[in-house]
Amino acid sequence: MASPKGSKKRTKPKTASRRTSDDALEPLVRDMLANIGEDPDREGLLNTPHRVGKSLRFLTGGYEVDLDELLNGAVFEDSCDEMVVVKDIELYSMCEHHMLPFFGKCHIGYIPRGKILGLSKLPRIADAYARRLQVQERLTSQIAEAVNAAIAPRGVGVVVEASHLCMMMRGGALVSLAVNPPEEFVAEVEKAFEAGPR
Ligand SMILES: [Zn+2]
Repeated sequence: MASPKGSKKRTKPKTASRRTSDDALEPLVRDMLANIGEDPDREGLLNTPHRVGKSLRFLTGGYEVDLDELLNGAVFEDSCDEMVVVKDIELYSMCEHHMLPFFGKCHIGYIPRGKILGLSKLPRIADAYARRLQVQERLTSQIAEAVNAAIAPRGVGVVVEASHLCMMMRGGALVSLAVNPPEEFVAEVEKAFEAGPR
C-alpha cells in the first residue's frame, strides 16, 4: 500500500494508538534493553520501546474496562432455564509472575434465573479480565463472579484451558474451573463441557 504522506517515522497503519509516543513506559523499556546488554540505539531496536509500550498497554487494557458499562443494556429478562454455554472463547492473558503470555480457551456456562446476558458479552467479560496481569485460577473465578454479579444465575461455571509460556518447557496446559455455587453445580458443568478438570 502506498504511504499517504511523508514517511519519516514509521507510524502504525492500524488503529489510532491510545497512548502517544511519550508513553512513560518507553524510557523504562529502553533502560531494560540496556540492562540486558543490548544497545537500544541500534537500528533494529530504535522503535522497540514504543512497540513494547504499546503492546503492554494493549495486553493490560482490561484494567480500564468498566464492567457495568460493558454490560449496560445487555441484561435481558428471560424465563429460559436451560444452561447457556459459550465454548471456545479465545483467551490471551499475561502471567503476573513472569509477565509472559498465557493463552488458550475459555468455556462459560450458566443456568439463568430470570435473566440472561447478551451472548457476545461473555467473551467481552473474559477479555476484560484476561487483559491484566493474572494467574489463571483468579482469572477463571473473576469471570464466573462477573457473570454471577451481572445476572445472579442459578449457577455459573467457567473452564479455562491455557498454555503458559513461562512453563511450556514442562509441557501441558493448565485447566482451571470456577463454579458458583460450588458443590451441586460442578457435576453439571463438567458434564456440559465434557471435560474432567482436576
Ligand atoms: Zn509465569
